[in-house]
Amino acid sequence: MPTNTIIKDNIEQARKRIAAAETKFNRTANSVSLLAVSKTQPTSAILTALEQQQFHFGENYLQEAFDKIDTLQDQPIIWHYIGAIQSNKTRPIAVHFDWVHSVSSLKVATRLSSQRPETLPDLNICLQFNVSNESSKSGASLEELAILATEIAALPRIKLRGLMAIPQKAETFEQQRAIFHAVQQAQQHLIDTGHPLDTLSLGMSADLEAAIAEGSTMVRIGTAIFGPRKTAP
Ligand SMILES: *Cc1c(COP(=O)(O)O)cnc(C)c1O
Repeated sequence: MPTNTIIKDNIEQARKRIAAAETKFNRTANSVSLLAVSKTQPTSAILTALEQQQFHFGENYLQEAFDKIDTLQDQPIIWHYIGAIQSNKTRPIAVHFDWVHSVSSLKVATRLSSQRPETLPDLNICLQFNVSNESSKSGASLEELAILATEIAALPRIKLRGLMAIPQKAETFEQQRAIFHAVQQAQQHLIDTGHPLDTLSLGMSADLEAAIAEGSTMVRIGTAIFGPRKTAP
């Protein structure tokens, strides 16, 4: 099959899985959106997905992302940055992206806030939650989240939308669900303390059902749409 057909089929399959999980876990229809993770994939693959009315794309590698954003600047794409953030690279992120899922420090948030051009809509932010509290993983701890959310809510030109997490893989569906539940609980705690959050960026190809069962509103899927990645540039 030509690559185009495979990508179209894969998007169809991903949408069916999402819809089935929404039904199974009593979620509102269409309450979970699909973020197509296009890192390392060519712009032609993004254009194919766009023909399927897929508008949200996620990128991890900055130089590669800026090249694609420039090439595709006339397309109605919503760009999400989901990679690690070095604080000296925040300016182009603030200029070129619509969403950033991987904010875990006030320093980065403050820079994104001051560097977001006033001519653009507010930059959408998710706080990355280190749910497993692994020292090797990036993301804020539960204690840090509440403080960060309050500080970030006060900053102009960025809008705190919710949490993102990349938990370690669990052995079983129930164990995966328990980890996702902890993220959902953290989100609910922030909502209960006055933050109007509407986004939970949770779940990938292998575990999107467990994530949707626990309230995910955005699943991030790469290889299951575009096929295997070339190595990172
Ligand atoms: C690469 C990546 C994904 C997609 O992973 P796949 O295995 O390609 O589906 C999702 N989220 C983040 C943060 C990623 O870096």
